[in-house]
Amino acid sequence: MAEVALDSVTKRYPNGTVAVRDVSLEIPDGEFLVLVGPSGCGKSTLLRMIAGLEEITDGEVIIGGRVVNDEDPKDRDIAMVFQNYALYPHMTVRRNISYALRLARVAKPEIDRRVGEVARILEIEGLLDNKPAQLSGGQRQRVAMGRAIVREPAVYLMDEPLSNLDAQLRVQTRAEITKLQARLGVTTIYVTHDQVEAMTMGARVAVLRGGVIQQVDKPQDLYDRPANLFVATFIGSPSMNLYHAHLERAAGGAVTVRIGSSDLALSDDTTAGRSSLERCIGHDVVVGIRPEAFHDPELREDVPGRQTLSAVVDLVESLGADLLVHARIDAASALVDGSDSSGPAPGDSPDASESAPCHARLTPGSRIRAGQRIRLAVDVGRLHFFDPATGTRVGGGR
Ligand code: ADP
Repeated sequence: MAEVALDSVTKRYPNGTVAVRDVSLEIPDGEFLVLVGPSGCGKSTLLRMIAGLEEITDGEVIIGGRVVNDEDPKDRDIAMVFQNYALYPHMTVRRNISYALRLARVAKPEIDRRVGEVARILEIEGLLDNKPAQLSGGQRQRVAMGRAIVREPAVYLMDEPLSNLDAQLRVQTRAEITKLQARLGVTTIYVTHDQVEAMTMGARVAVLRGGVIQQVDKPQDLYDRPANLFVATFIGSPSMNLYHAHLERAAGGAVTVRIGSSDLALSDDTTAGRSSLERCIGHDVVVGIRPEAFHDPELREDVPGRQTLSAVVDLVESLGADLLVHARIDAASALVDGSDSSGPAPGDSPDASESAPCHARLTPGSRIRAGQRIRLAVDVGRLHFFDPATGTRVGGGR
């Protein structure tokens, strides 16, 4: 078992593409770390550099206290599981799993012992004499895991290992991998573009964008305190609603946030101790409201936020456990587009006459219907604030 450390790791491909830029990260022994980000953000390149499959342009990869930059993959004491976990079709499950051990000339009784143990852990004892073609997708995925586990490496590297499974199997296998990792206690770095996988599997999650780490935190902290607009919209589904807004101090001393033509008063709790938020009073900000921070003011159980925004409902989707309301509010949207900008362009002028999209997740008892003009209660204690010029979070808190 080993700690993995990345020290200012950069990858520049020969064509000039900088896929990973100055990434530093410490993954303690036994941790399950997830690397997440949109397609092309450099996740696989980073993982492949750790594995030794890709040359490191700059910086150091350190495994178990050893700089491994110049070591062959086979000397790094790692095992990889890929999306395309090609099993040898002509070999039985037993021979597929034991392949690396046979190659390393491990003694037969030891091979039998380890294969037996791995098969027991993965619950594939009954399949050992089958060929891959006789297995389901999920069983094949387990055999691929078995091939990695049997080597008893210091580190597992997994690159989107669940992408080829159907939705239900993915959820099930996701839980199996998490449990297995906790039981084996082997340092694991897991790459995915799926924020739900990242949130559910990682003890910590590193969010990457354009080859640069945006934030490394526990899943709940990423959700509660996203470091910038990119993380705020990437984590959570539907995404956080973002609007241009203005912070003011009202005559009575209370701080209000003006969103379109509405004012929401912030409680003292919200502003207390958030000096960077205090400094924004009198300035434009981007305000973030998670869909879950909206409530139907008609419902008694939804009382916490009595302050409301006016909205026109476009569509109501019933998901059973909750209701997704797609509406428009009188505000200027500050949604980050998919392009490379880290937030609204500096100098973008908020246009309050614009109708900005709004997604709210309400409890199923709500009688809100498409076409209605409604009021949506906002839990003001759960507002997020960002600097409109840089996109970075202002103020701590939730
Ligand atoms: P991800 O795994 O997050 O989808 P990758 O690590 O595969 O991202 O790619 C990161 C960036 O590097 C992308 O812009 C991709 O086009 C580029 N890239 C990947 N492999 C190569 C290569 N061999 N040569 C040049 N550019 C590459």
